[in-house]
Amino acid sequence: MSTEPITYDVAVIGSGPGGYVAAIKANQLGLKVALIEKYSKFGGTCLHWGCIPTKSMLYSAELYDRALKGKEFGILCRDVKVDFRQVKARKDKVVKKLAMGTAFLIKKNHVATFLGKGTIASPGTVRVEGETAAEVKARNIVIATGSEAMLFPGLETDGRVILTNKEILDLDTVPKSLLVVGAGAVGIEFASLFARFGADVAVVEMLPRVLPLEDQEISEELHKLLSKRRIKILVGTRLESMAVEDGRAVATVLTPGGEAQRITAEKALIAVGRKPMTEGIGLEQLGVITSRGRIPVDAHMETNVPGVFAIGDVVPTQQLAHVASHQGMLVMRHLAGEHTAPLNYEQVPSCTFSYPEVASVGLTEQEARARGHEVVTSRFPFAAIGKASILGENDGFVKFVCDKKYNQILGVHMIGPHVTELIAEGTAALGLEATAEDVSHLIHAHPTVSEALMEAAEAIYGAAIHF
Ligand code: FAD
Repeated sequence: MSTEPITYDVAVIGSGPGGYVAAIKANQLGLKVALIEKYSKFGGTCLHWGCIPTKSMLYSAELYDRALKGKEFGILCRDVKVDFRQVKARKDKVVKKLAMGTAFLIKKNHVATFLGKGTIASPGTVRVEGETAAEVKARNIVIATGSEAMLFPGLETDGRVILTNKEILDLDTVPKSLLVVGAGAVGIEFASLFARFGADVAVVEMLPRVLPLEDQEISEELHKLLSKRRIKILVGTRLESMAVEDGRAVATVLTPGGEAQRITAEKALIAVGRKPMTEGIGLEQLGVITSRGRIPVDAHMETNVPGVFAIGDVVPTQQLAHVASHQGMLVMRHLAGEHTAPLNYEQVPSCTFSYPEVASVGLTEQEARARGHEVVTSRFPFAAIGKASILGENDGFVKFVCDKKYNQILGVHMIGPHVTELIAEGTAALGLEATAEDVSHLIHAHPTVSEALMEAAEAIYGAAIHF
């Protein structure tokens, strides 16, 4: 019997939505694959500290809020209270169930797994240190090590008062007050979540608007609606310092007018971006180029070193789970010899699961104009949609951004009820290079909130019925 060590076609380091999906796809395509994970479970940030736990808690917050408003709907809920330990327990149960499902799929797809920290020791060799210590030999290596919360120089989180997205998920009670630093998707979701559970929430953002990557009108509407929901928003405001005093977070911020303001809160969340986890994994010795910690790649996700690929939050594209997964599948199809088209990063849907929800795909109005398009836009309010009134969710709107010549859709931007589901239609429209007329001629079921898309498309050429 041969004692030769196995040489895998590909070794994947990191089992987030990039890594584990890549590994499954590799097996489906007939590649011999190894998956290396330093945490005790598979699934990465998304499953354990990101997408899934936050949405589970956001859903609990929504149910609480709806119970409080039940009277308007003829439902009398007495003594509505939050049992936050149960909110957390349910979140943990959802995560556990999905983690088991992920482990099952990995096993079912014959992925060889190694638990431990992976370091690229030399071309074609990954050293694993931890539960399953090993030297994994592979013809190709995929770096899918993801990201962690970014901190400022001099700012330390203590895990009890000053928190990142990890520790905040383990709170046992709803803090009376919460200061969120950073108004990107992560900051806004946590702000919304704890405000809905009754905390006094303030959000500090250095840039001039909340969700700064979204269309300006969407940011402005969100600012207005969050303020209406008692969240204090301070934009154009820079965090100068943060410390723990008498068990509370004490921050000094500089307002747009240059005035120093002191803010105190029971807890503070730092949500100012994500730092790629590319240090200490052997990239320097191998000569893999990084730029500000991220790994530049070509259209097939290959780094400057042949046979070494990178996907997900470590590369300079959108830090989203679905992007990581698609990049992982692309690499494997490429390695299996299939013809692959590069991903179109301009057609990636982006969602913020706050209250109200925000979702978008394609160019913002500002981006479209900057690229020289002659732009035409429409804006259709949910207030004019029957289903939105039924839900008692009249805030928000759908906005189309089109090129004037043929009304080709360049971007779809939404704020309001269920828009994180509705955005799939916008993604399809962009992917199929549809015009506003194309979408407006599709029959949308009544009464649904999706009718807002059809009407917003009609509004591009002045033909909306209900507004
Ligand atoms: P990760 O999911 O970060 O996984 C990387 C894995 O690699 C981890 O398991 C890590 O332990 C492992 N690892 C790291 N170094 C090593 C090593 N040396 N050896 C072995 N293993 C290693 N995105 C969305 O699309 N939708 C959302 O709703 C959403 N919500 C989010 C909410 C929060 C609070 C946060 C923080 C993020 C959210 N994201 C969301 C972003 C999403 O989680 C990431 O884009 C996604 O997880 C990136 O996937 P990845 O595979 O690149 O890395």
